Amino acid sequence: MYTLKFDEQKCLRCPTHACLTKCRYMDMDKDSAGEEILRIARGEDSFVLHDCVTCYACEEYCPMNNHPFYLIVQRQEELNVPPLPRPLIRRGINMGVPFRGDPVIEELNGKALLMGAFSDHMFLIQGRLFEGLPVISSDPRKMFHYFCQLMYLHYSRISVINERLPKIINTISMHNVTEIICFHDECYGAYTSYCPAMGIDVPFKPIHLFEFLYNRLLELKDQIRDVNLRVAYQRPCSARLSPDKHHFVEDIFRLIGAEPVPRKYSGEDALCCGGAIEGQRREGSRKRALDIQRRNISDMADAGAEVCVFNCPACYHTMEHSVAQKGIKPVYMSDLCRLAIGERPARWR
Ligand code: SF4
Ligand code: SF4
Repeated sequence: MYTLKFDEQKCLRCPTHACLTKCRYMDMDKDSAGEEILRIARGEDSFVLHDCVTCYACEEYCPMNNHPFYLIVQRQEELNVPPLPRPLIRRGINMGVPFRGDPVIEELNGKALLMGAFSDHMFLIQGRLFEGLPVISSDPRKMFHYFCQLMYLHYSRISVINERLPKIINTISMHNVTEIICFHDECYGAYTSYCPAMGIDVPFKPIHLFEFLYNRLLELKDQIRDVNLRVAYQRPCSARLSPDKHHFVEDIFRLIGAEPVPRKYSGEDALCCGGAIEGQRREGSRKRALDIQRRNISDMADAGAEVCVFNCPACYHTMEHSVAQKGIKPVYMSDLCRLAIGERPARWR
Protein backbone atom coordinates (compact mmCIF):
# COMPACT_ATOMS: atom_id res chain seq x y z
CA MET A 1 0.00 0.00 0.00
CA TYR A 2 1.61 3.25 -1.09
CA THR A 3 0.67 6.68 0.22
CA LEU A 4 1.04 9.99 -1.57
CA LYS A 5 3.39 12.41 0.19
CA PHE A 6 1.15 15.46 0.21
CA ASP A 7 1.47 17.91 3.10
CA GLU A 8 -1.57 20.11 3.73
CA GLN A 9 0.53 22.31 6.03
CA LYS A 10 2.64 23.37 3.05
CA CYS A 11 -0.52 24.67 1.36
CA LEU A 12 -1.53 26.56 4.52
CA ARG A 13 1.86 28.31 4.50
CA CYS A 14 1.99 28.71 0.71
CA PRO A 15 2.39 32.36 -0.38
CA THR A 16 1.26 31.80 -3.99
CA HIS A 17 -1.12 28.82 -4.46
CA ALA A 18 0.60 28.75 -7.84
CA CYS A 19 -0.58 25.18 -8.55
CA LEU A 20 -4.00 26.54 -9.45
CA THR A 21 -3.48 30.27 -10.11
CA LYS A 22 -1.11 29.34 -12.97
CA CYS A 23 -3.42 26.68 -14.40
CA ARG A 24 -3.94 27.45 -18.12
CA TYR A 25 -7.32 25.74 -18.23
CA MET A 26 -9.11 27.27 -15.21
CA ASP A 27 -9.28 30.83 -14.04
CA MET A 28 -8.65 31.26 -10.30
CA ASP A 29 -7.38 34.03 -8.08
CA LYS A 30 -5.05 33.30 -5.17
CA ASP A 31 -7.78 33.03 -2.53
CA SER A 32 -10.04 30.68 -4.44
CA ALA A 33 -7.02 28.59 -5.51
CA GLY A 34 -6.06 28.22 -1.84
CA GLU A 35 -9.63 27.24 -0.87
CA GLU A 36 -9.94 24.65 -3.64
CA ILE A 37 -6.61 22.92 -3.07
CA LEU A 38 -7.34 22.65 0.65
CA ARG A 39 -10.82 21.31 -0.10
CA ILE A 40 -9.23 18.62 -2.29
CA ALA A 41 -6.54 17.92 0.33
CA ARG A 42 -9.30 17.30 2.89
CA GLY A 43 -11.06 14.79 0.69
CA GLU A 44 -13.89 17.07 -0.49
CA ASP A 45 -15.23 17.60 -3.99
CA SER A 46 -14.15 20.69 -5.94
CA PHE A 47 -14.89 22.04 -9.41
CA VAL A 48 -11.17 21.54 -10.06
CA LEU A 49 -11.68 17.75 -10.04
CA HIS A 50 -14.32 18.15 -12.76
CA ASP A 51 -12.57 20.78 -14.91
CA CYS A 52 -8.95 19.56 -14.75
CA VAL A 53 -7.76 18.56 -18.24
CA THR A 54 -4.93 16.46 -16.69
CA CYS A 55 -2.12 18.50 -18.27
CA TYR A 56 0.27 17.67 -15.34
CA ALA A 57 1.47 21.32 -15.20
CA CYS A 58 0.60 22.00 -11.55
CA GLU A 59 3.28 19.45 -10.59
CA GLU A 60 5.74 21.95 -12.06
CA TYR A 61 3.98 25.09 -10.78
CA CYS A 62 4.06 24.03 -7.11
CA PRO A 63 7.26 25.56 -5.68
CA MET A 64 7.15 23.20 -2.69
CA ASN A 65 7.15 19.88 -4.55
CA ASN A 66 3.87 19.03 -2.84
CA HIS A 67 2.39 16.99 -5.74
CA PRO A 68 -0.92 18.78 -6.35
CA PHE A 69 -1.58 16.94 -9.60
CA TYR A 70 -1.16 13.48 -8.08
CA LEU A 71 -3.49 14.65 -5.30
CA ILE A 72 -6.12 15.79 -7.83
CA VAL A 73 -5.96 12.44 -9.66
CA GLN A 74 -6.17 10.50 -6.41
CA ARG A 75 -9.26 12.45 -5.39
CA GLN A 76 -10.86 12.07 -8.82
CA GLU A 77 -10.58 8.32 -8.36
CA GLU A 78 -11.81 8.31 -4.73
CA LEU A 79 -14.81 10.55 -5.47
CA ASN A 80 -15.52 8.86 -8.80
CA VAL A 81 -15.03 11.94 -10.99
CA PRO A 82 -13.24 10.45 -14.00
CA PRO A 83 -12.10 12.87 -16.71
CA LEU A 84 -12.73 10.27 -19.45
CA PRO A 85 -15.89 8.30 -20.30
CA ARG A 86 -16.03 5.06 -18.29
CA PRO A 87 -15.94 2.65 -21.29
CA LEU A 88 -12.76 4.38 -22.48
CA ILE A 89 -11.23 3.98 -19.02
CA ARG A 90 -12.11 0.27 -18.91
CA ARG A 91 -10.66 -0.31 -22.37
CA GLY A 92 -7.50 1.69 -21.65
CA ILE A 93 -6.82 -0.15 -18.39
CA ASN A 94 -7.25 -3.56 -19.99
CA MET A 95 -4.92 -2.55 -22.81
CA GLY A 96 -1.96 -1.96 -20.48
CA VAL A 97 -2.07 -5.29 -18.61
CA PRO A 98 1.63 -6.11 -18.34
CA PHE A 99 1.78 -9.84 -17.81
CA ARG A 100 0.81 -11.72 -20.97
CA GLY A 101 3.61 -14.26 -21.11
CA ASP A 102 7.03 -13.52 -19.67
CA PRO A 103 9.60 -11.38 -21.49
CA VAL A 104 13.06 -12.79 -22.20
CA ILE A 105 15.30 -11.32 -19.50
CA GLU A 106 18.78 -10.60 -20.75
CA GLU A 107 21.29 -9.57 -18.08
CA LEU A 108 22.87 -6.30 -19.19
CA ASN A 109 25.06 -5.38 -16.21
CA GLY A 110 25.22 -1.63 -16.70
CA LYS A 111 23.58 1.09 -18.72
CA ALA A 112 20.63 0.47 -21.11
CA LEU A 113 17.99 2.37 -23.04
CA LEU A 114 14.39 1.68 -22.01
CA MET A 115 11.75 2.00 -24.73
CA GLY A 116 8.87 1.43 -22.29
CA ALA A 117 5.64 1.04 -24.29
CA PHE A 118 7.19 2.53 -27.44
CA SER A 119 8.95 -0.57 -28.79
CA ASP A 120 7.40 0.25 -32.17
CA HIS A 121 9.58 3.40 -32.26
CA MET A 122 12.87 1.54 -32.61
CA PHE A 123 13.23 3.28 -35.99
CA LEU A 124 14.34 6.31 -33.92
CA ILE A 125 17.12 4.39 -32.17
CA GLN A 126 19.52 4.40 -35.08
CA GLY A 127 22.95 5.70 -35.97
CA ARG A 128 26.02 6.79 -34.05
CA LEU A 129 24.12 8.40 -31.18
CA PHE A 130 22.90 5.01 -29.99
CA GLU A 131 25.84 2.84 -31.10
CA GLY A 132 26.63 0.06 -28.62
CA LEU A 133 23.72 0.88 -26.30
CA PRO A 134 21.67 -2.16 -25.22
CA VAL A 135 17.90 -1.66 -25.47
CA ILE A 136 15.24 -2.97 -23.09
CA SER A 137 11.69 -3.39 -24.44
CA SER A 138 12.55 -3.46 -28.12
CA ASP A 139 9.93 -6.18 -28.76
CA PRO A 140 6.43 -4.71 -29.31
CA ARG A 141 4.84 -8.02 -28.25
CA LYS A 142 6.31 -7.61 -24.75
CA MET A 143 6.22 -3.85 -24.34
CA PHE A 144 3.56 -3.79 -21.62
CA HIS A 145 6.00 -5.57 -19.31
CA TYR A 146 7.91 -2.26 -19.40
CA PHE A 147 5.01 0.19 -19.59
CA CYS A 148 5.43 2.62 -16.69
CA GLN A 149 1.62 2.98 -16.42
CA LEU A 150 1.74 6.72 -15.73
CA MET A 151 -0.65 7.27 -18.64
CA TYR A 152 -3.39 6.29 -16.18
CA LEU A 153 -3.01 9.67 -14.52
CA HIS A 154 -5.18 10.80 -17.45
CA TYR A 155 -7.67 8.08 -16.44
CA SER A 156 -7.90 8.99 -12.71
CA ARG A 157 -6.50 5.57 -11.83
CA ILE A 158 -3.76 5.96 -9.21
CA SER A 159 -4.74 2.50 -7.91
CA VAL A 160 -3.84 0.85 -11.23
CA ILE A 161 -0.47 2.63 -11.37
CA ASN A 162 0.36 1.67 -7.79
CA GLU A 163 -0.57 -1.95 -8.36
CA ARG A 164 1.39 -2.41 -11.59
CA LEU A 165 4.37 -0.04 -11.45
CA PRO A 166 6.36 -1.91 -8.75
CA LYS A 167 6.09 -5.07 -10.89
CA ILE A 168 7.39 -3.15 -13.92
CA ILE A 169 10.32 -1.87 -11.86
CA ASN A 170 11.03 -5.42 -10.76
CA THR A 171 11.06 -6.65 -14.38
CA ILE A 172 13.50 -3.89 -15.38
CA SER A 173 15.72 -4.67 -12.37
CA MET A 174 15.93 -8.32 -13.43
CA HIS A 175 18.06 -7.10 -16.36
CA ASN A 176 20.66 -6.11 -13.76
CA VAL A 177 20.90 -2.53 -14.96
CA THR A 178 22.46 0.36 -13.08
CA GLU A 179 21.43 3.25 -15.34
CA ILE A 180 18.29 3.44 -17.45
CA ILE A 181 18.03 6.02 -20.23
CA CYS A 182 14.30 6.61 -20.60
CA PHE A 183 13.16 6.97 -24.20
CA HIS A 184 9.96 8.64 -22.99
CA ASP A 185 9.58 11.57 -20.58
CA GLU A 186 6.73 9.72 -18.93
CA CYS A 187 8.95 6.80 -17.82
CA TYR A 188 11.53 9.26 -16.54
CA GLY A 189 8.81 11.13 -14.62
CA ALA A 190 7.47 7.84 -13.26
CA TYR A 191 10.82 6.88 -11.76
CA THR A 192 12.05 10.29 -10.60
CA SER A 193 8.83 12.07 -9.57
CA TYR A 194 5.91 9.68 -9.13
CA CYS A 195 7.79 6.87 -7.36
CA PRO A 196 9.38 9.15 -4.72
CA ALA A 197 6.02 10.87 -4.23
CA MET A 198 4.40 7.49 -3.52
CA GLY A 199 7.28 5.88 -1.64
CA ILE A 200 7.96 3.29 -4.37
CA ASP A 201 11.62 2.15 -4.48
CA VAL A 202 13.56 2.52 -7.75
CA PRO A 203 16.77 0.46 -7.65
CA PHE A 204 18.38 1.95 -10.78
CA LYS A 205 19.39 5.45 -11.88
CA PRO A 206 17.00 6.94 -14.46
CA ILE A 207 18.54 9.24 -17.09
CA HIS A 208 16.50 11.64 -19.22
CA LEU A 209 16.79 11.06 -22.98
CA PHE A 210 17.73 14.71 -23.60
CA GLU A 211 20.56 14.53 -21.05
CA PHE A 212 21.84 11.40 -22.80
CA LEU A 213 21.58 13.04 -26.25
CA TYR A 214 23.35 16.18 -25.06
CA ASN A 215 26.23 14.22 -23.53
CA ARG A 216 26.48 11.95 -26.58
CA LEU A 217 26.61 15.00 -28.86
CA LEU A 218 29.45 16.37 -26.76
CA GLU A 219 31.33 13.11 -27.38
CA LEU A 220 30.69 13.53 -31.13
CA LYS A 221 31.35 17.28 -31.12
CA ASP A 222 33.88 17.13 -33.97
CA GLN A 223 31.20 15.74 -36.26
CA ILE A 224 28.51 18.38 -35.52
CA ARG A 225 27.56 20.83 -38.25
CA ASP A 226 24.98 23.55 -37.56
CA VAL A 227 21.53 22.48 -38.74
CA ASN A 228 20.59 26.16 -39.25
CA LEU A 229 16.90 25.59 -38.62
CA ARG A 230 14.36 27.74 -36.80
CA VAL A 231 12.75 25.39 -34.31
CA ALA A 232 9.75 25.24 -31.95
CA TYR A 233 9.67 22.60 -29.22
CA GLN A 234 6.41 20.81 -28.36
CA ARG A 235 6.70 20.22 -24.64
CA PRO A 236 4.74 17.11 -23.54
CA CYS A 237 2.60 16.94 -20.41
CA SER A 238 4.96 14.40 -18.80
CA ALA A 239 7.86 16.90 -19.09
CA ARG A 240 6.14 18.74 -16.22
CA LEU A 241 7.39 15.97 -13.94
CA SER A 242 11.04 16.76 -14.69
CA PRO A 243 11.32 20.55 -15.11
CA ASP A 244 14.96 20.38 -13.96
CA LYS A 245 15.79 18.61 -17.26
CA HIS A 246 14.02 21.11 -19.52
CA HIS A 247 17.21 23.17 -19.96
CA PHE A 248 18.62 20.34 -22.12
CA VAL A 249 16.21 21.39 -24.89
CA GLU A 250 17.95 24.74 -25.31
CA ASP A 251 21.36 23.21 -24.55
CA ILE A 252 20.95 20.78 -27.45
CA PHE A 253 19.62 23.47 -29.79
CA ARG A 254 22.65 25.64 -28.99
CA LEU A 255 25.07 22.77 -29.59
CA ILE A 256 23.63 21.87 -33.01
CA GLY A 257 22.99 25.39 -34.30
CA ALA A 258 19.18 25.28 -34.14
CA GLU A 259 17.47 28.58 -33.40
CA PRO A 260 14.48 28.40 -31.02
CA VAL A 261 11.86 30.88 -32.22
CA PRO A 262 10.42 33.30 -29.64
CA ARG A 263 7.05 31.87 -28.60
CA LYS A 264 4.20 32.76 -26.31
CA TYR A 265 3.50 29.10 -25.43
CA SER A 266 6.85 27.72 -24.32
CA GLY A 267 8.54 26.62 -21.10
CA GLU A 268 6.12 26.91 -18.18
CA ASP A 269 3.55 28.46 -20.51
CA ALA A 270 3.59 25.58 -23.00
CA LEU A 271 0.27 24.24 -24.26
CA CYS A 272 -0.31 20.50 -24.35
CA CYS A 273 -0.90 18.69 -27.64
CA GLY A 274 -4.60 18.28 -26.84
CA GLY A 275 -4.51 14.50 -27.29
CA ALA A 276 -5.58 13.77 -23.74
CA ILE A 277 -8.30 16.42 -23.83
CA GLU A 278 -10.28 15.58 -26.95
CA GLY A 279 -11.73 12.32 -25.59
CA GLN A 280 -12.72 13.73 -22.20
CA ARG A 281 -16.25 13.54 -20.83
CA ARG A 282 -16.91 17.26 -20.55
CA GLU A 283 -19.10 18.75 -23.23
CA GLY A 284 -17.08 20.58 -25.86
CA SER A 285 -13.82 18.72 -25.11
CA ARG A 286 -13.05 18.01 -28.75
CA LYS A 287 -13.64 21.64 -29.70
CA ARG A 288 -11.45 22.71 -26.79
CA ALA A 289 -8.63 20.37 -27.83
CA LEU A 290 -8.76 21.65 -31.40
CA ASP A 291 -8.72 25.24 -30.17
CA ILE A 292 -5.61 24.55 -28.03
CA GLN A 293 -3.90 22.93 -31.02
CA ARG A 294 -4.84 25.82 -33.30
CA ARG A 295 -3.45 28.43 -30.88
CA ASN A 296 -0.31 26.38 -30.26
CA ILE A 297 0.52 25.76 -33.92
CA SER A 298 -0.36 29.32 -34.99
CA ASP A 299 2.04 30.52 -32.31
CA MET A 300 4.81 28.37 -33.84
CA ALA A 301 4.02 29.53 -37.37
CA ASP A 302 3.73 33.23 -36.40
CA ALA A 303 7.14 32.99 -34.70
CA GLY A 304 8.64 31.66 -37.94
CA ALA A 305 9.33 28.03 -36.99
CA GLU A 306 10.48 25.76 -39.82
CA VAL A 307 10.52 22.67 -37.66
CA CYS A 308 8.45 21.43 -34.71
CA VAL A 309 10.58 19.27 -32.43
CA PHE A 310 8.94 16.45 -30.47
CA ASN A 311 9.96 14.13 -27.69
CA CYS A 312 6.67 12.36 -27.01
CA PRO A 313 5.27 10.00 -29.70
CA ALA A 314 1.72 10.75 -28.51
CA CYS A 315 2.22 14.50 -29.14
CA TYR A 316 3.85 13.68 -32.48
CA HIS A 317 0.95 11.58 -33.70
CA THR A 318 -1.62 14.08 -32.43
CA MET A 319 0.01 17.08 -34.11
CA GLU A 320 2.15 15.91 -37.05
CA HIS A 321 -0.46 16.57 -39.76
CA SER A 322 -1.62 19.88 -38.32
CA VAL A 323 1.91 21.28 -38.08
CA ALA A 324 2.71 20.00 -41.60
CA GLN A 325 -0.39 21.78 -42.93
CA LYS A 326 1.12 25.01 -41.61
CA GLY A 327 4.34 24.32 -43.53
CA ILE A 328 6.26 23.22 -40.40
CA LYS A 329 8.20 19.94 -40.47
CA PRO A 330 7.57 17.59 -37.52
CA VAL A 331 10.75 15.89 -36.25
CA TYR A 332 11.81 13.98 -33.17
CA MET A 333 14.63 15.50 -31.13
CA SER A 334 16.83 12.44 -31.65
CA ASP A 335 16.41 12.72 -35.44
CA LEU A 336 17.29 16.42 -35.30
CA CYS A 337 20.47 15.47 -33.42
CA ARG A 338 21.24 12.84 -36.08
CA LEU A 339 20.92 15.50 -38.78
CA ALA A 340 23.52 17.58 -36.94
CA ILE A 341 26.08 14.75 -37.12
CA GLY A 342 25.52 14.27 -40.85
CA GLU A 343 23.05 11.36 -40.72
CA ARG A 344 19.76 11.40 -42.62
CA PRO A 345 16.86 10.06 -40.53
CA ALA A 346 14.31 7.96 -42.46
CA ARG A 347 11.48 10.44 -41.92
CA TRP A 348 13.44 13.56 -42.86
CA ARG A 349 12.32 14.95 -46.21
S1 SF4 B 1 0.08 22.41 -3.80
FE1 SF4 B 1 1.94 23.63 -3.79
S2 SF4 B 1 1.48 25.52 -4.92
FE2 SF4 B 1 -0.47 24.51 -4.37
S3 SF4 B 1 -1.05 25.52 -2.46
FE3 SF4 B 1 0.02 23.62 -1.92
S4 SF4 B 1 2.17 24.24 -1.66
FE4 SF4 B 1 1.14 25.91 -2.75
S1 SF4 C 1 -3.30 19.25 -14.24
FE1 SF4 C 1 -3.36 21.07 -15.55
S2 SF4 C 1 -5.55 21.47 -15.84
FE2 SF4 C 1 -5.37 20.13 -14.04
S3 SF4 C 1 -5.29 21.56 -12.31
FE3 SF4 C 1 -3.18 21.03 -12.86
S4 SF4 C 1 -2.56 22.73 -14.22
FE4 SF4 C 1 -4.81 22.74 -14.14
